[in-house]
Amino acid sequence: MAEINNFIKTIMQNDLDSGKVNEIITRFPPEPNAYLHIGHARAIITNFELAKAFNGKTNLRFDDTNPAKEDQEFVDGIIYDLAWLGYKPNNVFYGSDYFEATYEKAIMLIKKGLAYVDDLNQEEISKYRGTLNEPGKNSPYRDRSVEENLKLFEEMKEGKYKDGEKTLRAKIDMASPNINMRDPVMYRILHINHHRQGTKWCIFPMYDFAHPLQDAFEGITHSLCSLEYDNHRVLYDWVVENCEMKHVPHQYEFGRLNITNTIMSKRYLRQLVDAKKVLGYDDPRMPTLCGLRRRGFTADSIRNFILGTGLSRVNSTVEADQLDEELRNDLKLKALRPNAVINPVKVIIDNYPEGKIEYLDCQNNQENEELGSRKIAFSREVYIEREDFIEEKPNKKWKRAALGVEVRLMHAYFITPTSVEKDNDGNITLIHATYDPETRSGSGFDLRKPNGNIHFVEATTAIPAEFRLLEPLILETEENKDLDFMEKLNPNSLNIVNGFVEESLKDTKPLDHYQFIRNGYYCTDKDSTDTKLVFNRTCGLKSSFKL
Ligand code: ATP
Ligand code: MG
Repeated sequence: MAEINNFIKTIMQNDLDSGKVNEIITRFPPEPNAYLHIGHARAIITNFELAKAFNGKTNLRFDDTNPAKEDQEFVDGIIYDLAWLGYKPNNVFYGSDYFEATYEKAIMLIKKGLAYVDDLNQEEISKYRGTLNEPGKNSPYRDRSVEENLKLFEEMKEGKYKDGEKTLRAKIDMASPNINMRDPVMYRILHINHHRQGTKWCIFPMYDFAHPLQDAFEGITHSLCSLEYDNHRVLYDWVVENCEMKHVPHQYEFGRLNITNTIMSKRYLRQLVDAKKVLGYDDPRMPTLCGLRRRGFTADSIRNFILGTGLSRVNSTVEADQLDEELRNDLKLKALRPNAVINPVKVIIDNYPEGKIEYLDCQNNQENEELGSRKIAFSREVYIEREDFIEEKPNKKWKRAALGVEVRLMHAYFITPTSVEKDNDGNITLIHATYDPETRSGSGFDLRKPNGNIHFVEATTAIPAEFRLLEPLILETEENKDLDFMEKLNPNSLNIVNGFVEESLKDTKPLDHYQFIRNGYYCTDKDSTDTKLVFNRTCGLKSSFKL
């Protein structure tokens, strides 16, 4: 695996060298309100790999201070995905575990005259906040006495007020050029059930107050977050300083990862699930880690992809095909390469004995002998890909079958199509062919050169299979760039075709990876049944990336 190397690593090295810190402690702080997506993988891999590079530690901390949208299902999903990516946190913490300690710090700020209870409602607060060009206005409640603030805050905690009736705000500077410093709200009232705390609390700290405190409580040295928190850093430092935290963590920002034709915000992913536009969070078209896994991406391919995109202080957009390329690199020598025919047409070899079946040697991975070999069936009836046959050979470039044109069935014999049968619409329903028994693969027969090699699946042993061919969920074009993302949905993102796979796949299980010969990388889907296997196409064999 590639080694992590970026500007934050340099900062960490300098901090260790100068003695500013003794060890590196990072954290990954997801909000458990959805499943993780591949953008989160950048944050996960950055935090864990950087700490690992310095023998440091990484905590998983659920940022569960916004109870309305949080759920145990997502907590479990996040823990699972993290383990799947190969990371084990040194500790698992919950932001809500610090509610008591955070509350104590709020009291401290009130006592120092640095926080006050405000009666303005949300709308009024934003009106008073001013704009980038105009300073804000002080709230009429800003100068309440410490005693009054302590009493009101206590009453807020005890549930005396309704949602939104009062807030606790930091008393900083309503004229600050940084709007985040204009008396930010630190606590809000929410009478709601919290997934871990139940109804114990009806006041909840805001991210900007809770997060720096949590980092300080845990001894985090480098608190890494994406670029949009850049202008929250001053507030972060203000909270740490004024709450007199013994440990002083520092925040560093990095660019967000975006991928072409992919929406990556949890809010949008949730909308797709709720509107039933996809099969669920783990739909193989989704950029969630569970979706990518179901589609067939491996943890290594995702890690190498993330490390390959590098990290800087600029948001970046990466071609989706780069992830495919990492999958091909990962599985090329690892995956078995069975035969599958995804758009089949039957071939009857008229001069092959009826009822006979023979088994032919076939290497499991032509580029890696270590994966061994297996026997594949051959008989009078086989399936080939429809697109490997044409009635009349069009030109010299056509290196597949045609009437009167001999090809090799890979690992088997040379066959020559002789005639076709068609339905009323003119579609070919059956191909008749003859074979040459002298040409069995491995027999050393080399008198003639066939017009190409095509793969096949023996018909009587073949297992029916559904293949899900996936395209991007979203199509961005010049014309639709200003539309809502729901209007950019690709109507053809899921294409289902039915064909056959060879017998050796009968015991396949969900998440098994394969390279189907001459076709692409596939992964067995959990929708497979005893009578029909289902495979997701992870990606093609070659890069479709155009420079
Ligand atoms: P979204 O915008 O998709 O809703 P979020 O940032 O609100 O995501 P959190 O659960 O708060 O989601 O994210 C946990 C961490 O993952 C944060 O530190 C966040 O900065 C980081 N993160 C989320 N999306 C990306 C991305 N696309 N690229 C890099 N880091 C990301
Ligand atoms: Mg967030």
